[in-house]
Amino acid sequence: MGSHLQAFRDAEALLEGHFQLSSGLHSTQYIQCARVLMSPAVAEGLCRDLRTRWTGETPDLIVGPALGGVVVGYELARAFGVPGIFAERENGKFAIRRGFTINPGQKIIVAEDVVTTGGSAAEVVDLVTRLGGRVVGVMCLVQRTERNPFSVPFASLETLIPPTWAPAQCPLCLAGGTAVKPGSRPGAPASPTA
Ligand code: ZN
Repeated sequence: MGSHLQAFRDAEALLEGHFQLSSGLHSTQYIQCARVLMSPAVAEGLCRDLRTRWTGETPDLIVGPALGGVVVGYELARAFGVPGIFAERENGKFAIRRGFTINPGQKIIVAEDVVTTGGSAAEVVDLVTRLGGRVVGVMCLVQRTERNPFSVPFASLETLIPPTWAPAQCPLCLAGGTAVKPGSRPGAPASPTA
């Protein structure tokens, strides 16, 4: 719904311009979800609305992959009224640390801020399953993929698939523009200019 994307724009979490994404592709849009989650009230409201999109089994626990899934996982846990924990990388692989546990048969939702290829969330789905949990779904604020990349049900608050181009095919570059790398200036928000 547009009202959610407006919250992203208001927080400068959704920028329009000419960007070089971390993939190396150029795009007219850039999302930095952390900025919309800066406000606890906004984060709580977005995750409360995200929770209403869920039609699957009620979870016992929410697990978010660090770092992107930490805040969303916590606020989604609040919305569901269940505990929320996070998985973090240890020697390159996701692990459950800090005394957090997965109980056998526990129904789990994996929470993420943005899902593009879904790599991190899929790793955590595998991890939680190996530890005996039963993953009932993956949820995220923004999905940037048409299809569900997971082997379990998937729900998001917004679908936003921006146009992307290889630099040599980018119409903004061909028109003489220069792409900016969002967040490349320390301490400054990404600029939608240039
Ligand atoms: Zn370009």
